[in-house]
Amino acid sequence: MAKLCIGIDVGGTTAKIGLLSTEGVILDKWEVPTRKEMNGSHILPDIAASVLEYLDRHGIGTENILGAGIGLPGPVTPDGNVSVCVNLGWKQERNPEKELSGLLNGVYVKAGNDANVAALGEMWQGGGKGHKNIMLFTLGTGVGGGVVVDERIVAGFRGMGGEIGHIRVNFDEADACNCGNHGCLEQYASATGIVKVARRALADSNAPSVLRNRAGFDDEAAVAACSFSCKDVLDAAKAGDATALSSARTSMRYLALAMHYISHITDPEIFVIGGGVSKAGQFLLDIIEEYYKAFTVMGKGRAEIGLATLGNDAGMYGAARLVLNRES
Ligand code: ZN
Repeated sequence: MAKLCIGIDVGGTTAKIGLLSTEGVILDKWEVPTRKEMNGSHILPDIAASVLEYLDRHGIGTENILGAGIGLPGPVTPDGNVSVCVNLGWKQERNPEKELSGLLNGVYVKAGNDANVAALGEMWQGGGKGHKNIMLFTLGTGVGGGVVVDERIVAGFRGMGGEIGHIRVNFDEADACNCGNHGCLEQYASATGIVKVARRALADSNAPSVLRNRAGFDDEAAVAACSFSCKDVLDAAKAGDATALSSARTSMRYLALAMHYISHITDPEIFVIGGGVSKAGQFLLDIIEEYYKAFTVMGKGRAEIGLATLGNDAGMYGAARLVLNRES
């Protein structure tokens, strides 16, 4: 029997579990609820029980499992330690690699931060396929990401590697980011950031825009009250709405600035853009690329820019790939 890998992506609501071939094909996948009560003490046992039950039901012995990778929503050090994981209710330092391995009858387990693991997945089977050095930007409610150098995640000493949402890109920002700093990338290039930038653009001008929910208002309070989504902003920008386009360009300019910095540090072959915001597709990439090229004047240092393709499965792919990285 060919060897198989388990890829696990633990989120705040469910843990996605995939059975993958060593070639990177998902053979089966399922989910178990993430139970956060009792300081999240059920989470790893629930996952292990589900995996063992699945293997038993399909007549697969643990000797056929090369290992299990697990992506967790918090910093994970290279030796698998997690000091705290708020989203899972974990409040004390622990080593989920050792714990899960014990629960899985000694199967090799490798853990990583979920965003970093997703980057590895995109490198292996997604938007970065064919490359060994990529940087993933996940533009969702926040901005997450992961750096992969020579097919390996750059987790850093404290597991904080790839926390690119909090790179400071604007020194003149008055509003505070969730992290306490001012002017973080996440304040502009996340879905919430894009909406915020658009609100400001509306408040700063009287130009007509489809984003105004009623004609004629121009005071800031009224603009702040109007309700539209990131998709509304990007759809309007695509349709040629001048204010929406200008604000989307402002948001993507900050993203391009962060890419420029990263190019000079890890020199990726490709930047892969994922998350809900990336559904705007090529339209968004064109804006990002324009600014990225303008900032990165050393032409040989410029990376390609592409879209993520694995969606919510990226974490499972990346987690399985963590196991294979042990072999190489
Ligand atoms: Zn921040």
